[in-house]
Amino acid sequence: MNKRELDNLILNTYNGLENNSFSTLGMPNKPMWEAPLIGVAAGDDNYFDFLKEHIGAFHWSPIDAFQLKYGKTSETTPANLRVVSIAFPQTMETKETQIAETLCPSKDWIVSRGEWEPLLKTFSGRLVSALESKGIRAVSIDLQPEFSVVRTGPLGLASTWSHRHYAHAAGLGTFGLSDGFITEKGKAVRFTSLIIETPVEITERQYTGPYDWCLYYKNGSCGKCINRCPIQAISFEGHDKNTCLDYEDYFAEHYWPEGLDRKDYILGCGLCQVGIPCQDKRP
Ligand code: SF4
Ligand code: SF4
Repeated sequence: MNKRELDNLILNTYNGLENNSFSTLGMPNKPMWEAPLIGVAAGDDNYFDFLKEHIGAFHWSPIDAFQLKYGKTSETTPANLRVVSIAFPQTMETKETQIAETLCPSKDWIVSRGEWEPLLKTFSGRLVSALESKGIRAVSIDLQPEFSVVRTGPLGLASTWSHRHYAHAAGLGTFGLSDGFITEKGKAVRFTSLIIETPVEITERQYTGPYDWCLYYKNGSCGKCINRCPIQAISFEGHDKNTCLDYEDYFAEHYWPEGLDRKDYILGCGLCQVGIPCQDKRP
């Protein structure tokens, strides 16, 4: 399989997602997520050894994750594998609703975040089946039962697989001051990752450092994301992850939008992902 065929398969799977819609808000024809950006990293990239030091020994390399599904005797090597990073941007319409907010994310933002897990399950399941039907072994990180979201390592809260660090490896962008990940379509994006066993071309990285696309790290300017945060969880020293996470419960309790069903949504504030120079593009 080449990169064009892989891209087509992913985009066709995205196009068939009938639950990519704001039907919860009574708008079934309005999509929640735009067509994804797609990057590919080699399965034996040296960067993955760095991630085990930087994030923690519990962090999976591609071969670790591959063998969770296919077993230790899967007769493959890291060099046979590719990491496919897939980034779904929020729509411009959703971002515009979010810009107007200063204390609580907009209804659209809450719903697109809240409906993300079932959507992702559908997308990942169909994509893995499509690859396997072509004889390509494939692992979706989000479908691996061992994937755990929260661990304590050198960085504090972390997961067994950092989608964003793998997105960086796969050429999709760099981190910014607020910890958000800046892509060619901006920072309001959500990620998933696949590991596939087929020699797809590697995506070239258009950067050398982990913060190259952030204006503050580039030339000391900007810092606009600092002003978007209602609780000062971002400063020129970086992002206070715990304060940020605590704010999810706070806004749900104090500022929840009228008429919106709370359901069992996982929440995300994201006020700092809009109204900034890296909202829609690499600034
Ligand atoms: S708003 Fe400015 S300082 Fe903040 S992440 Fe974006 S480019 Fe960097
Ligand atoms: S997500 Fe919200 S609370 Fe967290 S840093 Fe951004 S604006 Fe602040």
